[in-house]
Amino acid sequence: MANKQFDVVVIGAGPGGYIAAIRAAQLGFSAACIESESYADPKGDVRLGGTCLNVGCIPSKALLRSSELFHETNHAFVMHGITAENVRMDVGTMVRRKDNIVTQLTSGIKGLFKKNKVTLLAGHGSFAGREDDMWQLAVTGKDGSSEIVDTRHVIIATGSSPRHLNGIPVDNKVICDNVGALSLDAVPKRLGVIGAGVIGLELGSVWQRLGSEVTILEALPDFLAAADPAVAKEAWKTFTQKQGLNIHLGANITNVKQGKKGITIDYEMGDGVFKLECDKLIVSVGRVPNTAGLACDNVGLKLDDRGRVEVNSHCQTNLENVWAVGDVIRGPMLAHKGMEEGVMVAELIAGQAGHVNYDAIPWVIYTNPEIAWVGKTETQLKNEGCDYKIGQIPFLANGRALGQGDTTGFVKVLACAQTDTILGVHILGVNASELIAEAVVAMEFGAVAEDIARICHAHPSLSETMHEAALAVDKRPLHF
Ligand code: FAD
Ligand code: NAD
Repeated sequence: MANKQFDVVVIGAGPGGYIAAIRAAQLGFSAACIESESYADPKGDVRLGGTCLNVGCIPSKALLRSSELFHETNHAFVMHGITAENVRMDVGTMVRRKDNIVTQLTSGIKGLFKKNKVTLLAGHGSFAGREDDMWQLAVTGKDGSSEIVDTRHVIIATGSSPRHLNGIPVDNKVICDNVGALSLDAVPKRLGVIGAGVIGLELGSVWQRLGSEVTILEALPDFLAAADPAVAKEAWKTFTQKQGLNIHLGANITNVKQGKKGITIDYEMGDGVFKLECDKLIVSVGRVPNTAGLACDNVGLKLDDRGRVEVNSHCQTNLENVWAVGDVIRGPMLAHKGMEEGVMVAELIAGQAGHVNYDAIPWVIYTNPEIAWVGKTETQLKNEGCDYKIGQIPFLANGRALGQGDTTGFVKVLACAQTDTILGVHILGVNASELIAEAVVAMEFGAVAEDIARICHAHPSLSETMHEAALAVDKRPLHF
């Protein structure tokens, strides 16, 4: 029987891959997507949506919301005159709610594939060879069955997996990476976290709000080194002093032992030697690209020095008509970055002018308060010798924030001293994830701070703080 033939085959159905497949199909190509993982599907069926939908962005945000509500009921209701007694958390219900959201969204992608006529090929995808101008990909099922499909274009979107540390065996029951940390069946009394990055802070704060005593051990001496220093400083104060998260910086872990009574972690910090005892441990020390099973050597696909698929600014690899997007290539490991790349590649294949503006990709850390930014930090501008102006306004001066009962944080706008062009916007505060969108639009349109200052913002709204920060760049805020 002849091999199935496609114009475009995507390997991996995470946000980078499923979006690339859908966009390719929209553009008139015959498109297929290969996915191997069933995650925790009860029937063992392949699940679409990748890390993001199954064990990443979506489930973590569902748990964040539940834990915030629990915390607010216990701590914030009282200022509104609401008394709540005997407030209890049923972790099973919380986790089931999260699982239902995941099921709803992952099956939604199957629906989108049907609607857009994307063929789903269930199995593990790898390079099998090249004949004339067609690539051959092997699709190997869990039962060992295998088929070869032919395609003109290949888009590698195999994503990433959690990095584990030598001597710290992850079983996702007691010692967890993101997968186990999203499905704990009870609130651990003492929770240890290795790595104060995005996952450590988000998931550490979920379990802390539910009652765990959380201690995070971070190797680097600086907290949130990628964020703007003013944001990192204020976030540090809020998380450690106000919220009681224990974060130890500059911690060098020397030994991890698992016994009947829990886990003991030995670590050095400065000149001291310390011991942390905990009941559960989350290891969140970054992620590694998934390239191992692709049979890259079969076809000479080039990887970079960090094991990622090497691509140019248009996500083209060293092989003709082979592209790569998302976590498996350079750049931040963010779902929306992968999706943008998926769209760009499909449009480039169609001969259109696909493009990703890597300078305007927003970052959000879903702690409480949230942290969001786009563009350059003050540290980056200083290092580049760039002359800049700052407008920074606290939410304390915002009526809506006061009414809502949370005035933590600020909006900080960085603009070019000569041209007033917005170079970066940094937000710490409630709803920072939504507020940052205005800054992204402004930067995409090459706006100057005065543009935002001259735009009417609804009153009362948190967005007025963005308005005031833009006015503050010109030293003329009206409410501060
Ligand atoms: P993935 O989502 O990893 O998908 C790749 C898919 O390819 C997987 O399903 C995998 O099974 C499949 N695959 C791999 N190899 C093969 C093969 N050979 N054959 C067939 N299939 C294969 N990002 C955000 O932007 N916002 C967030 O709030 C956020 N929260 C996160 C929270 C957590 C706990 C984690 C772990 C990550 C979070 N991320 C977040 C990051 C985000 O999940 C990733 O950046 C995103 O999923 C990457 O998309 P991708 O398509 O490149 O890869
Ligand atoms: P990360 O890179 O954000 O943080 C890892 C942290 O672990 C770093 O601070 C690092 O210095 C530290 N570390 C590394 N080795 C260590 C060691 N041996 N001991 C102690 N600390 C150590 O990685 P992550 O938190 O695992 O998240 C992975 C990726 O997932 C992130 O890069 C991010 O792009 C993505 N993600 C995004 C979001 C979001 O957008 N809201 C949420 C979660 C995850």
